Amino acid sequence: MSEERRNVENIQEAFDREFERFSSLGVDGLSLSDAETALRELGEVKVNHTGKKSPIANAKKLIGKVSPEERGTFGQLVQSVEKHIASRLDTTEAALNALIATARTERERLDVTLPGRRPRTGHLHPITILRQKIEDIFVSMGYAIEDDREIETDYYNFDALNIPEGHPARESQDTFYTTEGFALRSQTSTVQIRAMERRGVPLRILAPGKVFRRDTPDMTHTPMFHQLEGLCVDRGITMAHLKGTVTEWLRRMYGVDTVTRFRPSYFPFTEPSAEFDFSCFKCHGTGKFEGERCRPCKGSGWIELGGSGMVHPNVLKACGVDPSLYSGFAFGFGLERMTALMYSIDDIRHMFENDVRFLEQFR
Ligand SMILES: [Zn+2]
Repeated sequence: MSEERRNVENIQEAFDREFERFSSLGVDGLSLSDAETALRELGEVKVNHTGKKSPIANAKKLIGKVSPEERGTFGQLVQSVEKHIASRLDTTEAALNALIATARTERERLDVTLPGRRPRTGHLHPITILRQKIEDIFVSMGYAIEDDREIETDYYNFDALNIPEGHPARESQDTFYTTEGFALRSQTSTVQIRAMERRGVPLRILAPGKVFRRDTPDMTHTPMFHQLEGLCVDRGITMAHLKGTVTEWLRRMYGVDTVTRFRPSYFPFTEPSAEFDFSCFKCHGTGKFEGERCRPCKGSGWIELGGSGMVHPNVLKACGVDPSLYSGFAFGFGLERMTALMYSIDDIRHMFENDVRFLEQFR
């Protein structure tokens, strides 16, 4: 019997020796990865000392085999060793688990005081800024915004706009022809025809868009640029409506003291035709700014902006509108020139070079 007792006492001693490294471990000061390693190793010790094939499990099987008078004491000894092993393992395991849980929470905690990464937001191109401003004004006057195709047939680009065969605008040195009978539109007036065909009359539209001409790029020319075209057709529309509309728009853009003037001109698709100017927004028509010659108007006090006129009866007829019942006015101008004036940009090519240093100034 003393041999069996001795065996059981040895089981506890063997466990204590192996467990020594865990009891000497200062659990509280462990790093997360050290604690995780310790927990893994503790698991192995637990299997070895409490599993089905562990020495203490074998000792338990002996309880029934010792003599009845010794069985009680022996049983108590085995139970107390088993309890000793289990309690030490459980205590350390619980301490390690608690430490790991805390360390993981700490690691995953968001530090809301850290400065955030600000997303780089873009902004509108100066041409878009101006276009939207003008669109807003015309929409408030009952105009609809029209968009249409950039590749047009000769018919829409020229014939329907009363530009006859042999007119210089139809020459290939002025227009980008694609395939036979098609060209990149050279003016947004093509939208007048398409809109009248689709919507019928009366109508009021504003058509902004890209147009294309075979110009050699320089400070004031690019082969692609933006035009904005306005069209109003109804019964009894006169030149007075044209002047009133253009003047009201420019007053809303540049202030109530803005004055407009119309000079006789010629366009194939309007009759009569006029170019329109407005009093300079910088010098208010005086031609001088801070004692110097005003730059936007070059000292004249006037800024030349665009072309206009009463829609030619042939254009109305081409759209199936009876010119004896209806009349209309149209006007158009280049957005680049207006943008360049507003922002004092001396070279319109800057607008298409995508140089961030240039674009960032229009935030
Ligand atoms: Zn001026």
